[in-house]
Amino acid sequence: MPAPIKNNVSAFLHPFSHMPTLAESGPVVIDHGRGIYVFDEQGRKYLEGNSGLWNVVLGFDNPALVAAAREAYAKLPAYHAFFGRVARAGLDLAQRLVDMAPMPADRVFFANSGSEANDSVVKMLWLMAEAEGQPQRKTILTRWNSYHGTTVMTASLTGKAYNQAFGLPLAQVKYVMNPHHWREGRPGESELEFSARCAADLEARITELGADTIAGFFAEPVMGAGGVVPPPEGYFQAIQPVLRRHGIPLVADEVICGFGRTGERWGSITYGMTPDIVVASKVITAGFFPMGAVILSPEITARVEAASAKYDEFPHGFTTGAHPVGCAIAMAVLDQIEQGGILKHIQAVSPLFQRRLKALADHPMVGEARGIGLMGALEIVADKPTKQAFPGQWDVSEKIAGVALKHGLIVRPLGSAVVLAPPFIITEAEIDELFSILERTLDEVHASVMKLAA
Ligand SMILES: *Cc1c(COP(=O)(O)O)cnc(C)c1O
Repeated sequence: MPAPIKNNVSAFLHPFSHMPTLAESGPVVIDHGRGIYVFDEQGRKYLEGNSGLWNVVLGFDNPALVAAAREAYAKLPAYHAFFGRVARAGLDLAQRLVDMAPMPADRVFFANSGSEANDSVVKMLWLMAEAEGQPQRKTILTRWNSYHGTTVMTASLTGKAYNQAFGLPLAQVKYVMNPHHWREGRPGESELEFSARCAADLEARITELGADTIAGFFAEPVMGAGGVVPPPEGYFQAIQPVLRRHGIPLVADEVICGFGRTGERWGSITYGMTPDIVVASKVITAGFFPMGAVILSPEITARVEAASAKYDEFPHGFTTGAHPVGCAIAMAVLDQIEQGGILKHIQAVSPLFQRRLKALADHPMVGEARGIGLMGALEIVADKPTKQAFPGQWDVSEKIAGVALKHGLIVRPLGSAVVLAPPFIITEAEIDELFSILERTLDEVHASVMKLAA
């Protein structure tokens, strides 16, 4: 059995990893998985309360997906999609995504990640603007606290303070209000009133910048890495007419919500969005292969193709986009979610998940328990009435994740929140197991924090 790595002395540069925790305990080295559980090299078992990074939704040992991958590797282990050549699986998957899109759709473009897919959308919007004689139309609107990726452009679209570390955002990106009612709502303001204020803020921003300078608006149906923030009541109903009136395309970043997380096929369906462009990634291959997909409405398709005609080609693409193995895995994932009853299973078990989650709102440290479908978050507070967070240096959500880990549960600390997004295949018994570990964890951390405060 390999010894645990101490003091982060390995050669590995860990992305988004809490350095003090890493220095103290070293990385958790995952060896294998079974169902919704993963096992580290010491043989410890963890319930994966976050589906890896929101993506491993069909289990860590799904035999049908492994078989689909094996078969695809045996047939055509690699090909690209440039110069009019493509593997059949790419065509099949594109058609399937067009057929199941939350809006009328005509074309799908394949990338290797959510970031690349969102980045590709920006290039499409700029390509259209240039070709349509509107080179000034470059500004992309996004929301504070949103998450759209980590490339230079998509980090800019991500409304998080850590972008300043890189001197971002890019000048072409502008922000509108974070639609988190609990945090941003005024005293006594209803969700509907708050949504109207978000729409007014958007309208004001468009007027200030000039409608003819804006290329598109990005939104996750439910903010994921922002801490699982479902939109307030009436939010998309309030903002969509504003966008439509100004001819601004709506990009639904469905990287987390797509394919069932919210209890419907798409977050757009759950929240009444009619996007012009949909971006999918994480769930599309259940984490078994890197993939991003951009689904285009007929109007956007026509505009992108008209713009491309100037150059006799769509001048963009990735070497491994539409990889035949990834496409075969995605087809098998969609088979399981759609025909295999996984979407129905999510709808059957998510009421229990939400009931157990929302019951935690009574815990003395929980300011808000929010979620939809099989995603949720607990907002950890020091003081419930004032919503005051604990001092940052106490790392309370990190502590919760650390204690949960010791008890065999992986949950994710996200700012002052703790986030849950279990695999779609979780059973009711496993949901009970998840919450009993989490409740015990919260009580233990609460006791230790009370000592710190005393
Ligand atoms: C994870 C995520 C991305 C970025 O995807 P990567 O594959 O990490 O590049 C984009 N948008 C949303 C909503 C995400 O959750």
